[in-house]
Amino acid sequence: MKKIAFFDTKPYDRIWFDQYNESLEIDYFEGKLTPKTCKLVRGYDGVIAFVNDEIDKTVIDTLHEEQVPVLAMRCSGFNNVDIQAAKGKVKVLRVPYYSPYAVAEHAMALILTLNRKIHKAYIRTRDFNFSLNRLIGFDIHGKTIGVIGTGQIGRVFINICRGFGAEIIAYDPYPVKDSDIPYADLDTLFAKSDIISLHCPLTRESHHLINKDSIARMKRGVYIINTSRGSLIESQALLDGLTSGRIGAAGLDVYEEESDLSYEDFSNIVIKDDILSILVSRPNVILTSHQAFLTEEALKNIASVTLSNLEEYYHTGKCSNEI
Ligand code: NAD
Repeated sequence: MKKIAFFDTKPYDRIWFDQYNESLEIDYFEGKLTPKTCKLVRGYDGVIAFVNDEIDKTVIDTLHEEQVPVLAMRCSGFNNVDIQAAKGKVKVLRVPYYSPYAVAEHAMALILTLNRKIHKAYIRTRDFNFSLNRLIGFDIHGKTIGVIGTGQIGRVFINICRGFGAEIIAYDPYPVKDSDIPYADLDTLFAKSDIISLHCPLTRESHHLINKDSIARMKRGVYIINTSRGSLIESQALLDGLTSGRIGAAGLDVYEEESDLSYEDFSNIVIKDDILSILVSRPNVILTSHQAFLTEEALKNIASVTLSNLEEYYHTGKCSNEI
């Protein structure tokens, strides 16, 4: 039986991996896979890792030295893996599709919560405060929503927005051919959108796509929603935009410096990230902890596809979901 080291384990991961696993011996480690922990892979035939593991050249070289031939990412994004270093040394597999609905629905949840101030109303009514002051929102119907990245998640998000009667404007360097998606260049999208939602991967080109200059080109009061990757947004520029009022609200499921924070409990500990501390304190900012994927359907698909990726690799030496 092939032995697998599973990193960054949370209780909800184990439920479906244990349920679907038939042929692998899995050891679950709570810690992340990082240059410090990668020696743990000794004696294993494969590794399962996640979005905030730090899989740099040192980790890849260690996997190679320890004769671990395969790294199965239990996620779709792989910006945290040094793919260049992995070439010819370690096969990297991923789950390209598990539930675009989970992430797209979460993006809309962030918009609705921020716009209709549900987070504020919830706290007020629990304290029997039934005042409506400062809870005014706007109709999404008729507003323009800019969608950056029209892959699986972006397209589901567009359909959700259309259900609300919003106008769509989209940007993607690789537009979907023969579709009814109204594409425009980024400048036009920035200038026209009331809400901008990010659904593109983090690459060299998209790093800090939302920065001081691009924010200056947006409509005053624009909402920015990020369920993709934190480093698409320059955090200081976002904070400055929120302070000046140029940005009306921000819904962030991901954050630039999240890797040490996500999925951990830091309550009662002083966080040393001042930008994050200020963002969290703002009434027009909602932060969720990289949870957009977290639905039962997505977790089931992540477990079954990750396991079948490894089985395919062990049986054939190849995998259709290899990066
Ligand atoms: P996808 O590969 O189906 O689509 C990505 C789209 O972005 C493609 O159409 C691509 O052409 C486009 N793109 C590439 N570079 C771009 C750029 N510079 N500007 C604009 N568009 C660009 O991916 P997907 O499944 O739709 O996922 C989108 C992103 O969502 C992932 O890259 C990942 O970072 C993020 N994600 C987040 C969560 C979460 O839990 N928050 C879960 C899954 C995925």
